[in-house]
Amino acid sequence: MFKKVNQIDIEFFRKLYKERLFVSEQINDDYCHDELGSTWGKPEIVLKAISTDEVSQTMKYANTKNISVVIRGSGTGLVGGSVCIHGGIMLDLSQMNKIIELDKKNLTVTVEAGVLLMDLATYVEKEGFLYPPDPGEKAATIGGNISTNAGGMRAVKYGVTRDYVRCITVVLPSGEILKLGGKVVKNSSGYSLKDLIIGSEGTLAVVTEAILKIVPLPSSIVSILIPFNSMPEAISIVPKIILTQVLPVAIEYLSKDTIENAEQYLGKKFPNHESNAYLLLTFDGEPSQVKFELSTISDLCLKEGAIDVYIVDTEERMNSVWKARGAFLEAIKSSTTEMDECDVVVPRSYIADFLLFIYEVSKTLNIRIQSFGHAGDGNLHIYLCKDNLDNDEWKIKKEKAFVLMYEKASEFGGLISGEHGIGLDKKQYLFNLLGANQISLMKGIKKVFDPNGILNPDKVI
Ligand SMILES: Cc1cc2nc3c(=O)[nH]c(=O)nc-3n(C[C@H](O)[C@H](O)[C@H](O)COP(=O)(O)OP(=O)(O)OC[C@H]3O[C@@H](n4cnc5c(N)ncnc54)[C@H](O)[C@@H]3O)c2cc1C
Repeated sequence: MFKKVNQIDIEFFRKLYKERLFVSEQINDDYCHDELGSTWGKPEIVLKAISTDEVSQTMKYANTKNISVVIRGSGTGLVGGSVCIHGGIMLDLSQMNKIIELDKKNLTVTVEAGVLLMDLATYVEKEGFLYPPDPGEKAATIGGNISTNAGGMRAVKYGVTRDYVRCITVVLPSGEILKLGGKVVKNSSGYSLKDLIIGSEGTLAVVTEAILKIVPLPSSIVSILIPFNSMPEAISIVPKIILTQVLPVAIEYLSKDTIENAEQYLGKKFPNHESNAYLLLTFDGEPSQVKFELSTISDLCLKEGAIDVYIVDTEERMNSVWKARGAFLEAIKSSTTEMDECDVVVPRSYIADFLLFIYEVSKTLNIRIQSFGHAGDGNLHIYLCKDNLDNDEWKIKKEKAFVLMYEKASEFGGLISGEHGIGLDKKQYLFNLLGANQISLMKGIKKVFDPNGILNPDKVI
């Protein structure tokens, strides 16, 4: 279907990329999979771009020659999105990593797409600002975050990546360069092409630069860890917390088994691990406001059956608790032979029912399932563990579990993915949930942006 990369193509790209071009055995295995590792595909050529112009020339050439192109940031995705399943070109943007401008008057920062989230966060913090989106994987690129509309821990108060993207520079599959949006706060100027591209997982255009919104750095940040006797008790408090009009930055749900995995993985004890279920909340703002919010929520939780409230206010405690939370995915991965995940999002009022359903699925199918999640926004991360199952059993059980979970999510008014995207791995479930009409509209949009279908083919839809 796509043309294979031949010597003539390699010569063309070598003139552009010189030592930033890799072929055959020079291509590291890391380029053949993403962080989850369930999808595998080797690019025929890897190109490390350093400018929008280079990306434009590459796309123009590939489009004319009908060579498929997959864009890669850091490859930390979890749905096979950045894998070259058709061979072709892998266009790696990780060297486009300049922070171009901090505009204090307009509260924006302009970056190249390959800037790492952690580098951006550190840079703006030093200048007294916060870039609020906070997905767990800090080594992801901003281009990857934009392309998956990454969410993360601070979504309850601050929203997700989309809410912080004011403008993007993109390269279309034809090679044309467009600037979508601006430093403006409001925008009702026609269809939002910017918003179509955010979350499109590299299937519509290549994001090469972004102007992002930042906010002043809050002067105080405190977390509290609240143990409960059971998961339903912990989760049922979340809507009540929201009703108090105190808006925590984060409301995370942690289960005992996941905490134990993280303790083992990190070789460090969590401040408390006797209880079955925990909520971890963060508040930020001016110190007296944080104190008020913290005591309002602590009182509410204690009144509603919480066992205790631990204040996580020293840097050491903050590090130990949030480091453990940040390591959950890696910890579960290291506890099993193989895993797969479901990043379902349900209305907040259904989180407990959904988790109880997961326990049933685990029992019925006799498969280990671990979970944690962003309880404040209904986005749960459910991990199916292969453990000692043989390959056939694993495949059958995994598929059954996914079908059951997504059907239940749909019954509750939920969606397939809250923040990790669809990629290749969740494509079939997206089709089942959205139906032929919505998928056909999406295919129409894809055709307009990418008539030859060369950009990240066969992903998402
Ligand atoms: C331990 C761990 C924790 C995580 N926690 C979270 C979390 O809390 N919240 C969350 O949302 N995600 C989370 N993720 C998922 C992952 O970090 C995000 O999906 C991230 O946004 C991917 O960025 P990346 O640079 O690694 O992109 P890649 O994995 O390289 O690519 C992801 C997708 O975006 C496309 N893409 C990448 N860059 C561009 C670009 N410049 N232009 C066009 N398309 C592009 C790729 O083609 C691919 O389809 C986590 C992952 C791990 C491993």
